[in-house]
Amino acid sequence: MPTFETRAAVLTQFDSPFAVGPVQLRAPDANQLLVRTSAAPFCSTDWMGWKGMRRKTPPVILGHTAVGRVEAVGSAVSDLTVGDRVIVSGTPQCGSCFYCTAGRPDQCSVLMDGSDPVVATLPDGREVRAAGRVGAYSERLLVDRIQVHRLPDSIPDSTASLVGCGITTALGAVFTIGEVQPGQSVAILGLGHLGLWAVQGARLAGAERIIAIDGHPKRRALAADLGASDVIDSSSVDAVAAVRTLTSDRGADVVIEAAGPGLATRQAVLMARRAGTVVLTGVADAATEVVLPQLQLTVHGKRIVGCQNGQITPDVDIPRWLGMLERGELDASAFVTREYGLDEISEVLSRSMLLEDVTGVFTSF
Ligand SMILES: [Zn+2]
Ligand SMILES: [Zn+2]
Repeated sequence: MPTFETRAAVLTQFDSPFAVGPVQLRAPDANQLLVRTSAAPFCSTDWMGWKGMRRKTPPVILGHTAVGRVEAVGSAVSDLTVGDRVIVSGTPQCGSCFYCTAGRPDQCSVLMDGSDPVVATLPDGREVRAAGRVGAYSERLLVDRIQVHRLPDSIPDSTASLVGCGITTALGAVFTIGEVQPGQSVAILGLGHLGLWAVQGARLAGAERIIAIDGHPKRRALAADLGASDVIDSSSVDAVAAVRTLTSDRGADVVIEAAGPGLATRQAVLMARRAGTVVLTGVADAATEVVLPQLQLTVHGKRIVGCQNGQITPDVDIPRWLGMLERGELDASAFVTREYGLDEISEVLSRSMLLEDVTGVFTSF
């Protein structure tokens, strides 16, 4: 099969402008597909990749999830065909590694033990990698069959593109890991797109008290619109004490940490009640360490669980979250702040850093 010329935003050096231009994409091998991209979100994962905090190797195309249409299939792909509308997920499900067979495909070894694959070459001959096996900031994507899922026509591109990003992580944190029950109290630390989806998830789960915590006034206002019962300004008050005050001095039944810094991880553990559940989704840079009081980790019986992409089982959860969007149970209208062309990537980056967008989505390439 021939190679495919396409256009991509390539990060050639950390913390420097992207180079938007032509790359030569490799032909799909037997178990791969070529997808023509329709939409891809820009999120904090990509910002950290750009900054050099995620152990990426430039030149690399960032962007960890996308939606699009199948443009070519490898010889061993029989269940998807040219023209099919699909979601490309950042978490593959190979079905045969230790973790997939143990029921934990969120830890699939194809992703967690592998490095970003080379998918293309620049005009000067340098090899280009695809971040998270997706590399979504590109007109076309070369991806493995095991990370591609069918997408119904009823959900618009920009909305559907959020499924593989904030939706899977936040709803998985609420439903799969946090197991939030009706009537419970849920504290959500950090109101970026993850935290805001978690607010919506906690409301759907029937939480009675949804305590949304952030230093940014616009984000707190948005959380209140989406169903938070209480908002806490973490820039002016002690968030741990405030959560205790709102929960009969016990602490929250479930805490979802969606901020990132090590201090937020510590606060999340401290604001959970005894025998409560703490779900940790935030990541700062790879070298961050967290200090916690030993007593809280032992005698207080707290359940502290890490969250990679919402502990996703892609074949089950992606159709589940798509169904909730189709039925109107999940509302994405507050999340897609603005749609962009690929050439506007530096503006997306700066607006993301200034928290102007909840999620900026590329919809033209
Ligand atoms: Zn696997
Ligand atoms: Zn994301």
